[in-house]
Amino acid sequence: MPENLIAQNLIRLRAELPDGVSLIAVSKTHTADKIRLAYAAGQRDFAENRLQEALSKQAELADLTDIRWHFIGHLQKNKAKKAIANFDWIHTIDSLALAQKLNHYAENLEKTAKFCLQIKPLPDPQKSGWEIPEFLDQMTQLADCRYLKVQGLMTILPLGLTPPETKQAFLDVKALQQQLNKAGHFPFTLSELSMGMSGDYPLAVKAGSTMIRLGRSIFGARQ
Ligand SMILES: *Cc1c(COP(=O)(O)O)cnc(C)c1O
Repeated sequence: MPENLIAQNLIRLRAELPDGVSLIAVSKTHTADKIRLAYAAGQRDFAENRLQEALSKQAELADLTDIRWHFIGHLQKNKAKKAIANFDWIHTIDSLALAQKLNHYAENLEKTAKFCLQIKPLPDPQKSGWEIPEFLDQMTQLADCRYLKVQGLMTILPLGLTPPETKQAFLDVKALQQQLNKAGHFPFTLSELSMGMSGDYPLAVKAGSTMIRLGRSIFGARQ
């Protein structure tokens, strides 16, 4: 994609988004140079889904000290320590065991990432995360991870939903967020909803998303 298109896409997307929705540029598979172009156009939040790829881009971009790095991939437990120290946000806590491991590291760190818990409003064998009933079963143990700054819920919907199904699934995640906040289950208010990708973000925004994660609509197709 020609470089000025990245800037044009960012300008167009920002104009489209209501206040209170932050735009996270998903830079996975794209080079550090492309990230620099987006940065030059004012973008500060970038997301990666593989730890090694992210760490090498972070090293190349170490001069851009105000980038906020988001981790959005499945995080293996043996990489939890590295991830918590090198990201501002981890959107993808997807099991109680991972939460407990991250909590253990967070206890001894002065600065740690902020977190979202990954929810599957519909069954999806391709994805990790909790279906809502099993999440509710484990919630007390999750809330006991009190060193984790849990800020909200995240979701990736299964492929092939109709627009009404998509909207309903996003609303189900929003309803869960409201239920949790009303009951005061977590030590922090869950103010964030990380939902919406290039194919479905307009519906996510309508359903109350606060963070959308866009790759293709900013950087074009991935190789
Ligand atoms: C790749 C990815 C995105 C971005 O997807 P696009 O369709 O390119 O916008 C968003 N969220 C997650 C978790 C991803 O892995």
